This record gives sequence, structure tokens and C-alpha cells, in this order.
Amino acid sequence: MKLAALADAEPRVFWLDDKSAPVPESALLGPTTADLAIVGGGYTGLWTALRAKERYPHLDVVILEADTCGSAASGRNGGFCDASLTHGFANGQARWPSEIASLERLGAENLSGIADTIARYGIDCDWQRPGELTVATAPHHMSELASEAEERPGVTLLDQDAARAELNSPTYLGALHDPQGTALVEPARLAWGLRDACLQLGVRIHEHSRVNRLHGHLLSTATGSVRAERIALATNAFPSLLRRLRLYTVPVYDLVLVTEPLSSAQLASIGWRHRQGVGDASNLFHYYRLTRDDRILWGGYTPLYHFGSRIDPAFEQRDSIHAMLGRHFFTTFPQLEGLRFTHRWGGVIDTSTRFCAFFGTAHGGNLAYALGYTGLGVGATRFGADVILDLLYAEDTDRTRLRMVRERPLPFPPEPIRAAAIHLTRWSMHRADTHAGKRNLWLRTLDKLGLGFDF
Ligand SMILES: Cc1cc2nc3c(=O)[nH]c(=O)nc-3n(C[C@H](O)[C@H](O)[C@H](O)COP(=O)(O)OP(=O)(O)OC[C@H]3O[C@@H](n4cnc5c(N)ncnc54)[C@H](O)[C@@H]3O)c2cc1C
Repeated sequence: MKLAALADAEPRVFWLDDKSAPVPESALLGPTTADLAIVGGGYTGLWTALRAKERYPHLDVVILEADTCGSAASGRNGGFCDASLTHGFANGQARWPSEIASLERLGAENLSGIADTIARYGIDCDWQRPGELTVATAPHHMSELASEAEERPGVTLLDQDAARAELNSPTYLGALHDPQGTALVEPARLAWGLRDACLQLGVRIHEHSRVNRLHGHLLSTATGSVRAERIALATNAFPSLLRRLRLYTVPVYDLVLVTEPLSSAQLASIGWRHRQGVGDASNLFHYYRLTRDDRILWGGYTPLYHFGSRIDPAFEQRDSIHAMLGRHFFTTFPQLEGLRFTHRWGGVIDTSTRFCAFFGTAHGGNLAYALGYTGLGVGATRFGADVILDLLYAEDTDRTRLRMVRERPLPFPPEPIRAAAIHLTRWSMHRADTHAGKRNLWLRTLDKLGLGFDF
């Protein structure tokens, strides 16, 4: 069903639709050498380069990016920069109860590290620390949020009135308020600011330089090559140059809408004076936030997987899904009937079976990687970059001692079982959401095995 509010929405990424986008750096031409070569110019690659120059200033670092830096997930996400390194407290606590305190501490330090970097390099990315509301939209959410409030330090449970006083939706039954754990950022501007900082520190960046081949210390593109002492792979959801890693993540599309700017009367009708990031407590959840110019970004709900782990820009536009997201928006905020969407897009995330990043090395320790952030990599990629450097330069740190860093997730099964299992899981998650949170036998089995599918 078509939605009138979407009729004029441009099929473009709001964050990338920005006059301050940098002019691309030249493609790699001919052979060269480097101390450290990084494949991929999203946050993982950019943080790896920046942290490498901060930690080991003498290194000669080069980034090879297939498209332009920040053009993939890093430039098109919701901009929730979360302190959690584990895709949320609950996931971290369930998997690594004995080290959750360290994980939370390292996550908070990581978030401060991001804030310091933004201040140090003067990155204009509207960095804000308004915290986050996880809203209950079904009765069973309230008991789930209440148990989280008991176990997790620093968060408060809000009843219906208190939740609606923060943000006024007739669908809210209450909320969990986390004042500290989440910052909001303009994602593409953060990526471009990190890119600038890298260039200032002497990192060489080649855009439109897809690496087609990895052979020992040699990386080859269509027009050049880099022989590097050490290599970092920062290619996220895209097919890994290390073939064996391809079983450990699946590319999942997440779709997003952005509205026109709200008038002050429209904004007053929903409240939102504290401008928190918001997500609902469902398995298939929506996330939303305000932009600098008072638009609402609205995304999530239907993580889409395509058979064979296919990635294709055509998957970024899905009329039926964008329309469904739009309908859900007006169910949440009926006061905003008449508001129009201006942008609609999608992007690909690298889901792992444990929902958070994993790390490793190959080629005798001269190559390292971090991937599998699932839908929560804006903050965690800086931590991932530091782990990559710890591993490449054999540093024994608080990070490398973590089980979370040393352990690998289970791989996804091959096709056609992979697609069938993902579709069954998604169906079961939806069923649980509409059946008072009751998890069916399939989800309970996955829970027991520590496996799952999220975004
Ligand atoms: C729609 C959407 C919403 C999201 N919302 C949030 C959110 O609100 N909060 C949050 O924390 N996370 C969110 N995420 C996830 C977050 O954006 C990612 O976890 C994070 O950006 C990952 O960064 P990355 O550098 O690892 O990957 P990417 O940004 O995907 O970068 C990987 C880069 O590698 C390049 N590349 C791939 N293969 C090659 C090759 N062979 N040669 C050269 N280059 C190559 C690609 O072109 C790409 O630029 C969202 C993701 C999406 C798609």
C-alpha cells in the first residue's frame, strides 16, 4: 500500500546528502609500500588508521577504500553512538557475566575517547549526549525493562506518565531511561571528520580503490598494489578477502526514513525536550531520533536478508517496507499526521551469531580484522580498531585479555539452510513480539546455544 507521506521522499541517504562531503582522494595508481595497509574506509578502517598514528606515530599508514570513505554503513546509520561494546548490556551479561563490569568500563572509556577525538580534531558532527529511552509498547516489555533496571547500574524505569512526559506517544506504557550510555552523532560527518584527521596525520587514503586480491603481504586493486608489513581488514558486511571469515557474518539490510523538519508546534505536540535517542523494546524494534534541524530519523523493524548473502544497491529501496515503516511512524505519533518524509534509504550491517564484534589474526599475526558489530558499531568500531592494533603489534592489554576478544562466534550454516534459518528466526521474533514475548521452541533452542539473529 502506498503512503502519501512518502510520495516525495528522495531515494537518498539524508546524511550523505550534504554539501560538506569531501572531494574523493585519488585512486591507487601503481605499486607502493606501507607499514600498515587498511582495507575499508568506514569507521573501523578510519579509527584503525587514526589510532595507529596516535599510538605509533612513526608508522606509514595507507587506507584503500572501494568507494568513498563513509559511503557504506558508517555514513548511513542512525547515529546512535552507544557505550556498549556487546550490542547492549543484556547480550554482554548473558554471554560473559564474569567480565561484564570490565566490558562496561571499557565501553564507557571508549565513548569518552570518541568524545575527546571529536573535540581534539574539531569534528563538526553535532555530537550530543542526551542518553536513550527504551520504550515499552507492549505489557511484557515493562517486566523485561524492570528486570534490566534491577541489574544494570545507572538506568531508571519510567512509568507511563513519566515516559510520555519525555516523549508523547499513545503507544508508550513506560520506558527505561539511560542518561549516560548513548551519544548521538551525525554519522557521515563523523566519518568525514575522522578521514580529515587521518589525512592531517599523514595517512594516505585512496578511494575508488577496491582490493581484489590479498596474497600474503600484497594487496592488489585494478590499478595498483600495496606491499604492507601489516594488514587490517575493515570490510564489515562485504565479502571478506579472507574467505574463511565469510561464514561468520551475514549481510542484513536495515531501512530508514527521514522526515521534513518539524515546526515548533509539531515538536511541542510530541515533547522530546531532552532529545534522547529512542528504541522500542521489541525483538523487531524501531529506533528514532531528532536531527540537528528537527527532522525525525525513523528506522529498523525489518532486518532483510537476501539469499546467498547477496549485497546489491537495489536492496536499499523497498517500497513496501518503507511504506510500512511510515505507517508505524504515524501509529507512534498520530499528532504528526500530515508530516512528509524527505529521504528513504537502506544500508547493510554485518550480523554475527553473537550480535557483537569478533576479532582475529591470520598470516602469522601480520593481518588482523574486526567485524560482526551487527547494528551497533558506531561506538564499538573505535574499540575494534584498538583491538586490531593490539593484535598486530602484539600488545597485551585489558582488551586482549577479554574472553569477548579471544573467543569466536559460531559460524552461520551454508545455504540453503542459512536463509531458511534466518527467515524462521525472524518469523519467530515477530511471533514473540505479538504473543506477549513468549519465545517458541526454535528461539529457546537458539538461546540455549547462545545463537541468534539481530540487527
Ligand atoms: C541503516 C543502518 C543503521 C545503523 N544504525 C546504527 C546506529 O544507530 N548505531 C550503531 O552503533 N550502529 C548502527 N549501524 C551499524 C554501524 O553503521 C556499523 O556497525 C559501522 O558503521 C561499521 O563500520 P565499518 O567501518 O566496520 O563498516 P562500513 O562502514 O560498512 O565500512 C566498510 C568499508 O569497507 C569497504 N570495502 C569493502 N570491501 C572492500 C574491498 N575489497 N576493498 C576496499 N574496500 C572495501 C566498503 O566500501 C566500506 O566503505 C547501522 C547500520 C545501518 C546500515
